[in-house]
Amino acid sequence: MRAIRRFTVRPVLPPPLAALGDLAGNLRWSWHPETQDVFADVDAELWESTGRDPVGLLGAVGRQRLEQLAGDEAFLARLRAAHADLERYLTGDRWYQRRRAAGVDGPEAIAYFSPEFGITAVLPQYSGGLGILAGDHLKAASDLGVPIVGVGLLYRHGYFKQSLSREGWQQETYPVLDPDGLPISLLREPNGERATISIALPDGPELLARIWVVSVGRVPLLMLDTDIEGNPDHYRDVTDRLYGGTSEHRLRQELLLGVGGVRALRVYTRITGHPAPEVFHTNEGHAGFLGVERIRELTVAEGGPRLDFDTALEVGRASTVFTTHTPVPAGIDRFPRTLVEQYFSDAGATPGVPVDRLLALGAEDYDGGDPGVFNMAVMGFRLAQRANGVSRLHGHVSRGMFSGLWPAFDEAEVPITSITNGVHAPTWVGREVIALAASQGADPDSDDTDAFWAAADKVPGSEMWAVKRQLRERLVQEARRRLARSWEKRGSARAELGWIESALDPDVLTIGFARRAASYKRLTLMMRDPERLKSLLLHPERPVQLVIAGKAHPADDGGKKLIQDIVRLSDDPAIRHRIVFLPNYDIAMAQPLYPGCDVWLNNPLRPYEACGTSGMKAALNGGLNLSVLDGWWDEWYDGDNGWAIPTADGVEDVDHRDDLEAAALYDLIENEVAPRFYDVDADGVPTRWIEMVRHTLKSLGPKVLATRMVSDYVRQLYTPAATTGRRLNSDYAGAVELAAWKRRVRAGWPGVRVEHVESSGVGDAPEVGDTMSVRAFVALGDLTPGEVDVQLVHGRSTGEDDLVDTALESLHPVESYEGGRHRFDGDLVLDRSGSFGYTVRVVPRNDLLATPAELGIVALP
Ligand SMILES: *Cc1c(COP(=O)(O)O)cnc(C)c1O
Repeated sequence: MRAIRRFTVRPVLPPPLAALGDLAGNLRWSWHPETQDVFADVDAELWESTGRDPVGLLGAVGRQRLEQLAGDEAFLARLRAAHADLERYLTGDRWYQRRRAAGVDGPEAIAYFSPEFGITAVLPQYSGGLGILAGDHLKAASDLGVPIVGVGLLYRHGYFKQSLSREGWQQETYPVLDPDGLPISLLREPNGERATISIALPDGPELLARIWVVSVGRVPLLMLDTDIEGNPDHYRDVTDRLYGGTSEHRLRQELLLGVGGVRALRVYTRITGHPAPEVFHTNEGHAGFLGVERIRELTVAEGGPRLDFDTALEVGRASTVFTTHTPVPAGIDRFPRTLVEQYFSDAGATPGVPVDRLLALGAEDYDGGDPGVFNMAVMGFRLAQRANGVSRLHGHVSRGMFSGLWPAFDEAEVPITSITNGVHAPTWVGREVIALAASQGADPDSDDTDAFWAAADKVPGSEMWAVKRQLRERLVQEARRRLARSWEKRGSARAELGWIESALDPDVLTIGFARRAASYKRLTLMMRDPERLKSLLLHPERPVQLVIAGKAHPADDGGKKLIQDIVRLSDDPAIRHRIVFLPNYDIAMAQPLYPGCDVWLNNPLRPYEACGTSGMKAALNGGLNLSVLDGWWDEWYDGDNGWAIPTADGVEDVDHRDDLEAAALYDLIENEVAPRFYDVDADGVPTRWIEMVRHTLKSLGPKVLATRMVSDYVRQLYTPAATTGRRLNSDYAGAVELAAWKRRVRAGWPGVRVEHVESSGVGDAPEVGDTMSVRAFVALGDLTPGEVDVQLVHGRSTGEDDLVDTALESLHPVESYEGGRHRFDGDLVLDRSGSFGYTVRVVPRNDLLATPAELGIVALP
């Protein structure tokens, strides 16, 4: 029978247990094992059967049990301790507060916009790496005390659940989430009414959304939800599921996230008194319309400063950071230009913002661009003065991919930097591993993360090995439980499933592989040569076992086919005890998976993995990475912390390339990985393996942390953005001036020329140590020498007269002549032997620019 209406009755806790409600209402429990213990104490069985969901647990536990607990002094003491710990966590000074107390500047608040947030399995508002990263960003900001406010959407259908048909084909079900059963609370006006925002849409009434607040430790996360009374049905569906349906559906979602998100922030700060964000961080292009709403606020909104468009653009850009995550052009979010025009024309979402100016922000008006589309990433770069990719290699790939926006500059100068992703250790590291380091006196709460991970070095090998075995054993148990459930769903009778009790072996080298079944991730590379794989799995002395998981996008039959191929292979009775596919990869499965693996395998097609974070989670649990040098591994593989699978870069034939890379993978496992794992001393401890584990923890531990990532954002992007933002924002005079200056520089640039360059000081046979003097005569038209930088660009010259490995040296103005001509001089000491070349160029100069390439203009001889 179907219910005609459903709601969740909230439990009433006896007063002595009121603190349980506070603990359940802040997601900090999701990364705090001691708080989870308190919930388990309430009712261990219910804790497991609700999927470790505090709100579900408290809703399901009977009155009688609650009354019993209310009189249980030992329980109450544990509850009080956990509650006091949360209070300390929420109110004490942390890294950011200590830093500010020491006089280091930083923004009052930062808004972080993302289409998905993966925080805990009980709030399944994510679909993969991007969401998990956003969740880890908020958690690490909370740990550091960085004043971030998250902004996202609340989707009615959570992340889909994956199961398998008899034939191994992926089946999806979408859980319907009841907000009343989630750890979120409705934002209300002081008079008790729900707070809402609205957006004008072209084809009907205004779109309404309510605002949920999620407490992620110290960080509030606002989530917008259109499934409310007052909206027609098709509006209620705007937040039905992540990245749903048609282009238009996605556009509405992104409108809600960007434009609605800024409006929700304003409502939230008005009601709560929270400081207004000084910096806006756009996590991937989907949230980019936030910049358009800010332009509306600054240009036409009632009560606003009524700036002109260009000035508002400068104010918005200065305080906006854009992070791109996609190394493949096909992965970029684009809309038909006409659709955007329709939604943003006069009576549209941001009335008063000229639609032609808006369309220009997303136009692909560069070589090879498509004039019919509106590109969200391109808009992201134009609306943010600071932008980054998510690993060093991805920064490089992004500079190449978007170089069309700064055509006058070499790739190295395209203003896209990189900050390598990280993972939130308290969420992803098994508590036994934390305890190992803590047993050597390390403090997991200290800011000194190097010291914590270095402590791993002192752990005796036998202890470390015993913990790894324990974690492997737990994964084996968990995998058997999941396998049994999956086989029952696939239609097998229990009697047929006896083999599952001996599937996997807690003493066999365990290789994990879990990721979305996107084609570039090559889920099936390992089965390129099934016979070779079999012989590795069934090796008489040095067997390996594989634990595999991953979801395909529901519309991606290609991905589902890859999963089916793996499933069919793992169904083979000859090897099914050594290779398993576990359905429904999500946070709940991932948490025991990483600690239980000895080796984490990753074999994407290079360079399509922007960063990858699962290998980082494995590393923090003492897992060794076996990976293609892509994403973060390209940067931090050091020869001793794992293995690099050689890639056949440049081999055009993809089949041949896959053959070569698969063979290299098999060779590595057979000749390096397995022999080392099974090479044990008299006590059964593989000492050389443990050396690598120690080295991994010590060298990668401090680097792969989300706290390292967030502090990099604070130092390299948020603080500079806040500083420039304040200079432009205080009375807007700086912004008016900057916008006028840019207009003048652009208009005058055709008159800027390098007319003539002379050098002296180096003769026919220049030597290292010689000083070269350069004189450049340049025409600047109406611009003054202070408004430009005349630069000597020098480096190695190649056969084609191209300059590589270049460095810059600014020349200084010495004399001005009639007609806007000037002389600039400088000296350079030749400090390197070999081929040398130089040129002189002119770029705009203003200390409000983040880089000389910002305007995209340059004058060369
Ligand atoms: C970490 C994680 C991801 C992202 O991992 P990648 O290595 O970036 O593919 C995806 N899903 C879950 C459940 C995760 O925990």
